[in-house]
Amino acid sequence: MDSKTIKCNKCNNDAIIFQKYSGMHLCRKHFIEDVERKIKLTIRKHYSIKRNEVIAIGLSGGKDSSTTLYILHKLFGKRPDIELVGISIDEGIAGYRPDTIESARELTSKLGVRHIVRSFRDEYDTTMDKIAPQKREKGACSYCGVLRKSLINKIALEVGATKLAIGHNLDDEAQTILLNHLKGDVSRMVRLAPPKELEGLVLRMKPLRHIPEKEIALYAYLHDLPLGFGGCPYAHEAMRKEIRAMLNEFEVKHPGTKYALLSGFDKVSGILGREYPQEGLQKCIICGQACTENVCQACKLLKRDQSYNK
Ligand code: SF4
Repeated sequence: MDSKTIKCNKCNNDAIIFQKYSGMHLCRKHFIEDVERKIKLTIRKHYSIKRNEVIAIGLSGGKDSSTTLYILHKLFGKRPDIELVGISIDEGIAGYRPDTIESARELTSKLGVRHIVRSFRDEYDTTMDKIAPQKREKGACSYCGVLRKSLINKIALEVGATKLAIGHNLDDEAQTILLNHLKGDVSRMVRLAPPKELEGLVLRMKPLRHIPEKEIALYAYLHDLPLGFGGCPYAHEAMRKEIRAMLNEFEVKHPGTKYALLSGFDKVSGILGREYPQEGLQKCIICGQACTENVCQACKLLKRDQSYNK
């Protein structure tokens, strides 16, 4: 026996990962079981799936959304009363998005899942490649995120989805919690709390929120899922990058920091929701999407309200 081989804490097989935060060495089988067990628990605790649901999955084609689709398909793919629908948005980012969409196409066709692809060009008559070089009030990601979320929600409503799954992992959640604290953005903190039913907005679910990003990458690798592509040329959210680096450093020195941030937030999020209740939703007078004011963020960013008022 190779004396250097480290064994799994649950069986006698070779370990493929050491989870510093749990102190466990796990082999392939027990690592996969651990990831899937946490995801099942998350779904059961926060997003109970009932009979006859349509679950839409925001599918960028990267490792997180591909893993989300793969696991939901593993859990619900054989249930005749549950339909899964992958939704991919082409924001019009040359040299980046076409490859990820192709991966999403390959995965949905392999799993036999319905796949819808829609573009900013068709929906908004613009692309991120046109928006990014313009003089803008906000960062490119703000435009991209708002427009994409609005379009995904619209498509999810069109297909009758009752849930919309997105691939946010533990790192994304921990970064967002800290980012909102550092910006003092209470309304975003409230929106980050486990979701409530709101008319016009498909309930968002985050099955991967308890899985560290590195473990998603390993799970994706072990299942031959897409691992990711060259970065988006417009990804310049400086503060998030700093927080990401800081949290990763903390996690090395103090294993479990990311889990602690998430579980602390989950404990206070109920109180936060009661103190700062979310505003009721109404329909955007321009596009009809659900929003808190009379014109939605997407229409404001596209300056549709200016031409509307003329
Ligand atoms: Fe859009 Fe920003 Fe993501 Fe690029 S990094 S796809 S611009 S949100």
